[in-house]
Parts: sequence; C-alpha cells; structure tokens
Amino acid sequence: MGDIRLLPDVLASQVAAGEVVERPASVVKELVENSIDAGASRITVEFLRGGTRLIRVADDGRGMDRSDALLSIERHATSKIRESADLAAIMTLGFRGEALPSIASVCRFRMFTQRREDKAGTVLEVLGGKLHEVRECGEPPGTRIEVGDLFFNVPARRKFLRGEQTEAAHLLKQIETLAVAYPRISFVCLRDDKEVFRLASTEDLAVRLRDLHGEDFLKLLVPVPCLERDGVRVHGWIARPGEGRTDRAQQMLFVNGRMIRSPVLSMPLREASDGMLAKGLHPPAILFFEMDPAAVDCNVHPAKREVRFRDPGLLRSVTLAAARAAWERAFPSQITPGSALPDPLFPPITRSEGLSPSFANQGEFLTGRNFLPSRGDESPQDVSESPLSIPRYLGMLSSRYLLFEEQGSLTMVEIRAARERLLYESFLARLATGELESQQLLMPEILEMSPADLAWIDAHRSILHAAGLVAESFGRASLKVDAVPAAVSLLPVMEIVVRLVDELRTLGDSPELDRYGREALASSVSRLAASGARMPSGEVGAVMLLRELLACDLPYATPAGRPTMTQISSGELQRRFMA
Ligand code: ADP
Ligand code: MG
Repeated sequence: MGDIRLLPDVLASQVAAGEVVERPASVVKELVENSIDAGASRITVEFLRGGTRLIRVADDGRGMDRSDALLSIERHATSKIRESADLAAIMTLGFRGEALPSIASVCRFRMFTQRREDKAGTVLEVLGGKLHEVRECGEPPGTRIEVGDLFFNVPARRKFLRGEQTEAAHLLKQIETLAVAYPRISFVCLRDDKEVFRLASTEDLAVRLRDLHGEDFLKLLVPVPCLERDGVRVHGWIARPGEGRTDRAQQMLFVNGRMIRSPVLSMPLREASDGMLAKGLHPPAILFFEMDPAAVDCNVHPAKREVRFRDPGLLRSVTLAAARAAWERAFPSQITPGSALPDPLFPPITRSEGLSPSFANQGEFLTGRNFLPSRGDESPQDVSESPLSIPRYLGMLSSRYLLFEEQGSLTMVEIRAARERLLYESFLARLATGELESQQLLMPEILEMSPADLAWIDAHRSILHAAGLVAESFGRASLKVDAVPAAVSLLPVMEIVVRLVDELRTLGDSPELDRYGREALASSVSRLAASGARMPSGEVGAVMLLRELLACDLPYATPAGRPTMTQISSGELQRRFMA
C-alpha cells in the first residue's frame, strides 16, 4: 500500500490554520472581518494577555441559526460564494470558508449567535477542533466568538508567539487598520479589561483618524481628492512634503475595503514623492481604492494580504496621479492673485473634501447593500475667495529666515532651503535638454585623490560632465579639474568635487544613477550652490525670492524634503495668545 492518505479533518484544519492563523492578531482579523461581512454596525474586541489567553469578538450583525452555526465551523463552509464564477466578483472580505474551522482547531472555541428573527440562539463549544457541545441559549442578536488559549494543542506554534506586549501591539494595529477602513462601524477595544478605545461611528475618515491617532497625526497629512479613471476610484490622505518615513509602516492601502501590500501601489507613491521627500523615504498614506471586484484577484494569499490586479498599469498611473493631485492642490504652485498661502503647519483639517461619503459606504459596498458610487470628480475647492493681497516683508531673522506678513498671518522662509528648491528646478529644467553650465578655470586645478575616488570619477565622467564638472585622473593619485559647475564657481574646487562625488556615490551604481541621474545631479548641485549663495538684499530681494519660490513646481520643500517655508495663520497666533 502506498504512503499517501487523506488527512483527518482536524489535522487538515490545523495545517490550514498555519496559513491563516499566525498569531492572535490574525484571529482578530478573521473574526472582525466576519463581523463586517455580517453587516455589523458595532464591534467589540476584548483580549487578555496579548490575545494568547483570550480573544473575544462580539458584533450586532445578522447572526446565524443553529444549522448555519454548525456549518460555519466545517471546512470550506461559506455563505459567501456558491460557484466558481462568484470567485471573480467577491463583494465580501471572506470567501474561503476556512477561517472559523482553522481557528477552532487550534484553541478552546466558543460561539454565541442569534438571528434577530429567532427566539433562541445557539452556543457552540469546540475544543481543539472537536465539537464539544451545542445548546440553545438566549442572546442579544448578533454573534460573539471566544478564542481561548490559542495554540494550546499545537505547542510548536505556541512557541513561536512573541511576548504579550508584542502580540498585543500587533493585535491593536490590526484593529486600528480595520477601524480606519470602516469608519461607519463603531469599535470598542478592551485590553486586559481596560478600555483602549471607543470609536463612535462616523461618515468622515478624518474624524476616525483623529479619534485613533490624535490631532497631530492629521496635521501630517493632506487630503487626496477623489480621482476616478477607467473604473478605478481612489481617495484618502497622504503625507505633507518633508514627512517621509524610512519604512512603509504608515502606509495603509485598501483595495475594496481590504488592506493589502502591493508594489503596484507603493512604488508609484514613492515615485510621486521624488523631489518632495528625501530619496529612499516613503510617504505615509491612507488610500482607498475601489474598483469592480472582477478587476482584482484576492485569492492569491492565504491571509489575503496580497492581490493581483488585472491592469496593474492602470493602478500605477491612478496612484501616481492621485498623489500628485493631492500635493498640487494642497500646495498650489503659483501665487495666484488673492490666494492665501496654504498653511503647511496648520491646515484646515476639518474640511472633508476628498472624503466623499462613498468611502464611508465601503462596509455596505462590500456586503452588497446599496452601493451608490458618488462621482469622484467634484470640482476642486475654490481657493480664490480672499481679496488680493501681496505678502509684506517684515525683515530677516538670524541671517537665515525671511519674515512676511499676509492678512495677519506670519510666513517664514528659510533662505537656503528656498534657494535650493529654486536652483533645483532650474537645473532640472536645464538638464532635461542639455548640461549644466560650466565655468572654465583659469588654470586647471590638480587635487589629490584616493585611487578609489579617482576610479569612480573616471567611470562617471559623463555624468559629472553633465553637472558642469570637467575632470579626469592625472597620474595615479591626482585629479585634474578643468571646469566646475558655474552655479558653484565661487566655492573652493576641492569642496565642489568632494561633495558632488560623495553625494552621487550614495546613489550606488550606474543603473540607479541612470535612473535618478538628472534629479541627483540637480539636487547635489543645488545644495552646493545654495550653501554659497548671497543673502537676498533688502525688501526687493526678499519679495523676489518668495515669489520665485512660489512659482516653483513644488515650492514647499527642498528636493531632500526639508521645508522651505512655514506659516502661522492669524487664527493660530490668536490661539497661542489665547486671544
Ligand atoms: P468565510 O468568511 O470565508 O466565508 P469563515 O470560516 O470565516 O469563512 O466563516 C464561515 C461562515 O460563517 C461565513 O461564510 C458566514 O456565513 C458565517 N459567519 C462567520 N462569522 C459570522 C458572524 N460574525 N456573523 C454571522 N455569520 C458569520
Ligand atoms: Mg471569514
């Protein structure tokens, strides 16, 4: 007889649990998603000791009758799809019918459930995957599921759990993610019998974000106006320039109400932030993508954290356009007559443009109830209401900041950062068609260099040439410099070479340099040039600098993401003086 045999059901579920249930947070994800699918308007999550001792999720959703309750813990039992065609158009968060049996096979499991229309409810107890007890009970309508002693019967998995603090952190993060995705649903969370948060139902994502993370978090963000293209709709919030992060932990990308990780969406975000954030930084973002369920395959990852898009190119371009639109709109590039400067520090956050109510409808969208997409392209907010005004120069502070007054608000410009942005854009424009202007030295300068630096410079001569630096090795350990970038010709030649080479080298090897070459050059040279620039002279120079800055494509930060200016609104001034 061969060695192949069918796994007993409990064992099969435990194997499946390995994929679906990694840790307490994944249990919470599955249970809360089920509650959302069941149309809940209020969900309570309690847990003890990082969720290892107990997780309890209670909802006021539609509940189950006795036979459905029994079926729900059978493998591949789901009410959500019936035939394979349904897989192509999933409107719910769950569809595999795998979560409950998987979870029940690795814990002490109890379910209380009752439908609104029934007189009695059902209690099920399952111990390590074996049905232990079924009885009748009287329950409020809805479903409550308790997961006790997770992995009590799978010691190998229990060993992999981290400390209670870590598991609790993952678990809370998971609830927060779901709470952001469904602001319409009220969430209550208790940790070791203490309330962590109690979130009221709201139509407005901004309110939910503030309830969860506080006012300061919202101040880091600007709204992404709703944008629609070829059946893909996106909106949400994205970081202000200069608010980049080294990882993507603060990116929440939702596709049809489900948070996913996907390079198709995160790469264009990074691309869009070129010139807004330092290289290598990611913009925090909370974006909601909605599309025909058939345009996205959710069935590629056991925990559904990844998806496959039918048209990744479309998603990419929509993401890029949305991020750019958000920044453009938040920071209009021209000082149009009468437009007040947008306030980069204290934005009017309560404005809910960009947060179309449709996004709050997602819970309903996913459960298939009255999804009425609102047209996403509402006309942009009109900023030209205030009377024409010209910023008035007040003076210079510490030889470093220019101060302006405009309609009672105070604008501060950091001179060097402003110069850097200005020069960067003009260099970039020049590099698009040719090379940066170079200044021939009267006499070539000979610099001592390490052989490694020399080799690098020789290998990248054409790039350096484009920056206006004409140099080549001269003997074994020296460099002959014939010309330097005109914009920095006042700086010592050694400083120019060392700083340019250092900066460009951080970009790594040629492919990177090819891709980012122009931006990198423009950015390095502008930083150099700004460091040697003269102070603006008097009022005329100061106002000119401000106007030139505001005429830039992206005036509010240097290419490396340092702010160029900041503003204190008259309201904020009053608040500070408690006036
Ligand atoms: P899936 O969500 O993939 O369908 P699950 O194993 O998570 O599979 O759940 C199985 C079934 O149990 C669901 O299809 C649903 O009908 C029912 N169910 C689970 N949780 C709830 C709940 N909180 N309220 C109502 N029904 C539920
Ligand atoms: Mg499910």
